[in-house]
Amino acid sequence: MKIALTGKSLVAGLDLAPGGAAFKGVNPADNNALEPAYTAIVAEDVDKIAERAAAAFAEYRMKSGTERGAFLRAIAANIEAAGDDIAERMPAETGLPEGRARGETGRTVGQLRMFAALVEDGSWVDARIDTAQPDRQPLPKPDVRSMLQPLGPVVVFCASNFPLAFSVAGGDTASALAAGCPVIVKAHHAHPGTAEIVGQCVQAAVESCGMPAGTFSLVYGGGREIGTALVKDPRVKAVGFTGSRAGGTALMKVAAARPEPIPVYAEMSSINPVLILPEKLATEGEAIAKALAGSVTMGMGQFCTNPGLILLPAGAAADRFATVLKESLAASPNGCLLNSGITDAYRDALKARSTLKADGFEILHEQPGEACQVGTALYRATATAFLANPVLAEEAFGPSTLLITYTNEDELLSVINAQEGQLTGTIHGTDQDLKSNCRAGYALHERVGRLLFGGFPTGVEVCHAMVHGGPFPSTSDGRSTSVGTMAINRFTRAMCYQNAPQMCLPEELKDGNPLGIVRLVDGNRTKA
Ligand code: NAP
Repeated sequence: MKIALTGKSLVAGLDLAPGGAAFKGVNPADNNALEPAYTAIVAEDVDKIAERAAAAFAEYRMKSGTERGAFLRAIAANIEAAGDDIAERMPAETGLPEGRARGETGRTVGQLRMFAALVEDGSWVDARIDTAQPDRQPLPKPDVRSMLQPLGPVVVFCASNFPLAFSVAGGDTASALAAGCPVIVKAHHAHPGTAEIVGQCVQAAVESCGMPAGTFSLVYGGGREIGTALVKDPRVKAVGFTGSRAGGTALMKVAAARPEPIPVYAEMSSINPVLILPEKLATEGEAIAKALAGSVTMGMGQFCTNPGLILLPAGAAADRFATVLKESLAASPNGCLLNSGITDAYRDALKARSTLKADGFEILHEQPGEACQVGTALYRATATAFLANPVLAEEAFGPSTLLITYTNEDELLSVINAQEGQLTGTIHGTDQDLKSNCRAGYALHERVGRLLFGGFPTGVEVCHAMVHGGPFPSTSDGRSTSVGTMAINRFTRAMCYQNAPQMCLPEELKDGNPLGIVRLVDGNRTKA
């Protein structure tokens, strides 16, 4: 398939205003602008787009799980067919290699098919039925039935660092569409062409599957104005966001200040502590250090799960670990980051560390690079220096990490307890290490959404049990996940029917279980 890029928002059937400012994607490897220019919509267009999404909701929410599943599968097939277009455009806009573009395409279509299977099965709605007991004393028990229902139109902000899997048809969009919610996507300014390719794939599936036109819109708009207007619109009922802490918290405030506040599911900053316990460090430290370098530099460190803080007991084994990690990072080639904003932010973060004058803090290795190319960095601090210098706890988004050495359990606990909420925490320990460090393990447990025993947090498995979320500020709502099938719950509300006639009930709650789904009937999980 060869997709022709139009440079326009995808809002089939709507007449938009002549348009706001135009901008182009930029190749971060050479700073050259890429055709075509993209026209931003203007704030008054948001009203029309939201109105159309709200109108589509009334129809789209009534589509069966089979119909929604077919729609998600059609999107996946279209994206797969556009694989070559994506593999050409995405590297040009992001500096990510073609292999990553093809791998992320596979992940994205896999996610769409996972949600298709979920809604085709149908049991995800958590249907509950408590049958009536008219003769119960002292009061009769009513017939009470409940299930999860779609919330309404959802606004999704594309992530800079996942142009496919957390963007136009990424996990937020797939889970919202699966739930029965129309989606309005706000493209990221740094990969407008990739967004349009995928947007055209979704739009084609809307048409071929007979979904209402407002089920999906893709809009371009920079300068915060359009994103803010979308979140403020009263017809929008939830927001999915991946990006900076500043952006996520700004949008949370906008959503909370609405006359009807709405949830913002924002995935923001995380430094993903890794704890390497004494026996493990002594016996396998060098191997762990080499593998850690691979995780720190994966995707040039631009993953939300990048391990940015490594905790080690001070001593000769920690020194060896530091040397091996330093050599491995120094051997890693320089490369370009996703865009000039992220490059500048990375260099600023390195500068904040390299200009830090503090006892117990040292720069082990630093390659800020030149122009578009940046390199790796490694710093080391004592627990005392870390606790005294808050700058060391900030996310440095890129291929760098910080070693912290502790001398006793109190120091270790102080460092862990000083962490803000994180997406992940990782423990490397022998059985004996784990037994001797229960308090540290529990402290880490309380601060993260996913606890790993061994391995590294990068490379998130997309599966039913995955939790890619965590306490604030790693996400805005630590009860949720943006990866895995539980992500669908974010875009639903619980709805209860009391003494409803059969004809007024959704199929999922009718007597005889016409859809054959798993339900909780009078406290028993059953397909009957
Ligand atoms: P960003 O600046 O937060 O932008 C993400 C999206 O939100 C963009 O579409 C942006 O619009 C929009 N936006 C941001 N602030 C907004 C506001 N106040 N009001 C309305 N819309 C707003 O994130 P980014 O460009 O992806 O990366 C910037 C930094 O975020 C990185 O350097 C890194 O530190 C961090 N980051 C962290 C993660 C993570 O998972 N931990 C992932 C990505 C980025 P525009 O397109 O118009 O800018």
